[in-house]
Amino acid sequence: YQIRSAVFSKSSAKIDQCPQDNLPEIAFIGRSNVGKSSLINMLTGVKNLAKTSSTPGKTQLINHYLVDNAWYLVDLPGYGYAKVPMSEKAKWEKMTWDYLLDRKTLLYVFVLVDIRIKPQKSDLDFIRKLGENGIAIKIVFTKEDKVKTMEGQRNIMAFLEALKEDWDILPEYFVTSSEKRSGKVEMLGLIEEIVFN
Ligand code: GDP
Repeated sequence: YQIRSAVFSKSSAKIDQCPQDNLPEIAFIGRSNVGKSSLINMLTGVKNLAKTSSTPGKTQLINHYLVDNAWYLVDLPGYGYAKVPMSEKAKWEKMTWDYLLDRKTLLYVFVLVDIRIKPQKSDLDFIRKLGENGIAIKIVFTKEDKVKTMEGQRNIMAFLEALKEDWDILPEYFVTSSEKRSGKVEMLGLIEEIVFN
């Protein structure tokens, strides 16, 4: 599967502002700076579709991108940024969980995790809550080019090990690098299955 077109559709501050045309959607989320914008740009092949490193602390929105006139790629604001004030965090929580729990057309959530770091509580907590609510997820390890293969493997194993405390069946995962453009074929293969089958 190759994406032929991807265009910005709209930004929404709440779920009832999201597009109403019932197309299936796949959401992307992760801690601030995890490499989400870079990954979205790599997958779609559109260079500046998602803005890289938006200013943290600023009010963030749910961004819908229409892909191949068939589905939406949804860019959700990042979590876990230490310097964000509590009021912003609370807003993020409400907006994001309203969306994740109630959006009928949401098929899958890709949770991005930086391959370089040890398992983070914010990631594990977030993924646990998705699981508890029966939301279908895949994990995407990012910035694969930044670690040696063995170190990357070790970090992935440590992360899966930590997840095992909450999950009987571990979610499937991808290993990617937007720098090296790795993992793209695998992710698009799965997306095709999810959206078109
Ligand atoms: P976002 O905040 O999650 O959208 O993250 P960005 O896509 O803006 O990336 C944050 C920083 O990490 C930027 O400086 C990117 O250039 C860098 N980055 C993102 N993906 C990769 C990657 O696969 N490899 C490397 N080496 N750097 C990356």
